[in-house]
Amino acid sequence: MIVVKVGGSAGIRLDRVCADVAALHKQGQQLVLVHGGSHLTNQVAEALGHPPKFVTSVSGFTSRRTDRRTLEIFEMVYCGQVNKGLVEQLQALGVNAIGLSGIDGRLLEGARKDALRIVENGRRLVLRDDYTGKVEKVNTDLLNLLLGAGYFPVVCPPAVSYESEAINVDGDRAAAAIATALGAEALVILSNVPGLLRDYPDEASLIREIPKGQVEQAMSFAEGRFKMKVLGAVEALGQGVGRVVFADGRAEEPVQRALRGEGTVIG
Ligand code: ADP
Repeated sequence: MIVVKVGGSAGIRLDRVCADVAALHKQGQQLVLVHGGSHLTNQVAEALGHPPKFVTSVSGFTSRRTDRRTLEIFEMVYCGQVNKGLVEQLQALGVNAIGLSGIDGRLLEGARKDALRIVENGRRLVLRDDYTGKVEKVNTDLLNLLLGAGYFPVVCPPAVSYESEAINVDGDRAAAAIATALGAEALVILSNVPGLLRDYPDEASLIREIPKGQVEQAMSFAEGRFKMKVLGAVEALGQGVGRVVFADGRAEEPVQRALRGEGTVIG
């Protein structure tokens, strides 16, 4: 089992990702594709007059401020255009893809944060109307049912809270949870950079390998949202996933390249 997470940043070639996962699927490789949609969500949110806002938690992680309206826009883009666009492309490639958000069949479940502690302009604030959380449970029965019947799951946030509210969760960590639950041999995380860069944005500073024991130190190189990717990697590796590869989602055959070791290999 290989779990592929493709980000939503500008420049990522979803057509190449689809062609590549379709080729692997046809070779008999079991796969789950998890996707983001951050860049398009920002554009749609602007167009709808509800511009995106990002908040930084007291522990230094950045996340999307998700009030109810943002959650609706998030669903329009993730569960709508991006998910159905990927399913359409895979269907055209002869793969029987099925798109699911974490709400569907309670595929991704977790606790909604009752309060978000953030830092804004040096001041600490507590937000209570935010729909965010963290995936704690994966409905592996549902995934195995689909995989066993030959379907190709294409999964995206949001997840569902224990109180059955949609919650925005980080896609990288959701992919890590799925990889862990399915006992994947590899988790491939594709973005619009060649991997983890020691000196971002200098692409020549790509870190090619990080031994499992040093992954927490790698966190010091990651800025902004890349930190979530490293956190996802730490979680997945700590719970039995064979290796995590951060690789370039703009390249030809991005997944096969990643599996050959192009990118940042951790594990
Ligand atoms: P996606 O939506 O594709 O998952 P994110 O925007 O969440 O991607 O994360 C990828 C971004 O992380 C890159 O486009 C880059 O701007 C940023 N980044 C921060 N630090 C680093 C780093 N050390 N190496 C590579 N990218 C980094």
